[in-house]
Amino acid sequence: MAKTVPEIHLDDMVRLRKPHPCGGYEWRIVRLGTDIGLVCTTCGRRVLLQRGKFNKRLKTIITRASTHGTDSGDAPAAGGKEG
Ligand SMILES: [Zn+2]
Repeated sequence: MAKTVPEIHLDDMVRLRKPHPCGGYEWRIVRLGTDIGLVCTTCGRRVLLQRGKFNKRLKTIITRASTHGTDSGDAPAAGGKEG
């Protein structure tokens, strides 16, 4: 067995070869199964792709949901002007 299918997880951010009509390249995994559920992070549109198609279209896995390190300190409070 020589399968080189990238391992993906829920909430992973991925990049596909072709952009969405809205111009967005980045997608978030929202469903894993026979079909892969993706949400366009640019416009919020949700699509389903068959695993085979998804694997062909997948270009890069941007972030993995569970491997997150060196996260220390709190973010500085951004001064938002309201009103
Ligand atoms: Zn989009």
